[in-house]
Amino acid sequence: MRAARLNLYDLTRTDLQALFLRWEFSPVHAVRLWNYLYLALAASFDEMPELPAKVRARLSAETSIGTLAVALETDSSDGFTRKYLLTLADGEKIETVLMRFSGRVTACVSSQVGCAMGCVFCATGQMGYTRHLTPGEIVAQAVHVARALKLVTPHPSHVTPRREAPPPRLRNVVLMGMGEPLHNYDAVMHAIDILRDSSGLAVAAERITLSTVGVVPGILRLAAEQRPSHLAVSLHAATQEERVALVPVAKKWPLDELMAACRTYSEQTGRKIFYEWTLIEGKNDTPEHARAVGRLLRGLPAQVNLIPLNPTVGYAGTPTHTEAAKRFQKILADEFQLPSTVRQRRGIDIAAGCGQLAVAN
Ligand code: SAH
Ligand code: SF4
Repeated sequence: MRAARLNLYDLTRTDLQALFLRWEFSPVHAVRLWNYLYLALAASFDEMPELPAKVRARLSAETSIGTLAVALETDSSDGFTRKYLLTLADGEKIETVLMRFSGRVTACVSSQVGCAMGCVFCATGQMGYTRHLTPGEIVAQAVHVARALKLVTPHPSHVTPRREAPPPRLRNVVLMGMGEPLHNYDAVMHAIDILRDSSGLAVAAERITLSTVGVVPGILRLAAEQRPSHLAVSLHAATQEERVALVPVAKKWPLDELMAACRTYSEQTGRKIFYEWTLIEGKNDTPEHARAVGRLLRGLPAQVNLIPLNPTVGYAGTPTHTEAAKRFQKILADEFQLPSTVRQRRGIDIAAGCGQLAVAN
């Protein structure tokens, strides 16, 4: 069997420099290659004229630029959301979402093919787990979105702007696509290091958010390693019994252990955690539930992100109405001084909303 080629998106800038040193190529060429990959967003070695022919020849013989082929691209009627179905080198598929909120662009990237955690209302959980993504496959999704933005004309051609507006840049990355990022810890952290490199894609750490179902050892490791990205924890219920019914993996990492880990994380990093709460009508959206969340998070630096349930084939629940969501928020604010937001519903018509990502076979 032929050894798999080295995916250049797997390499940090330091790794790339080490490779060129080993190959006895000038470090200047390593810098050029890095710039081609992450500033020019080149997709082939032919787009790298400033690299000598012998460097390009070795690169094409032994490495690849792990660009992901688009199997399908769908735009939401909301005008702000685009979903890509991307094909990996082994034929597996993942989904990546590009979201435009006012003035900012966010890439929602996947960390695994499928997911092993089995949350009942999540389309990815319903499809089961296939495999982890490599760092390069995570980086490639962000590069894909960055390339798409480069192609966008910033203004309609018939309008002459006073000053040429720069094209929007990829500024935010959320690890909220398919998969559980802390189940694939090393690859995810390695990818984040590459995304953050200030002479590459330069996504600021405070603009990267990682969302976890509550993998306790992963949360503690993030704290011990002082990882600077934001952390979101999917809570959905404030008692162990109610949580297990929605998030089966809570059997392994019970609510009290999870909350202790969250406390340690906030103490050690000094950062607040975003707590996600998928609002399901009649299940976890009553005033009593709001008070239970308030009590659970008392004293912790926290913000609650409420996500009205998005429909999936495998779960029959219905989303909480706007009024009930507002009432929930008001209780958190008035009785517990707990800030919260209701996540904007985006891309629901193309199944690009939270928890709707899955690959149809
Ligand atoms: N695996 C990670 C990140 C991906 S999901 C996690 O679970 O945190 C991002 C968020 O969407 C999570 O809070 C998840 O619980 C939520 N979610 C999953 N399915 C959903 C659905 N059908 N409707 C609304 N939110 C959902
Ligand atoms: Fe996995 Fe997150 Fe979906 Fe749960 S909500 S099944 S952890 S992707």
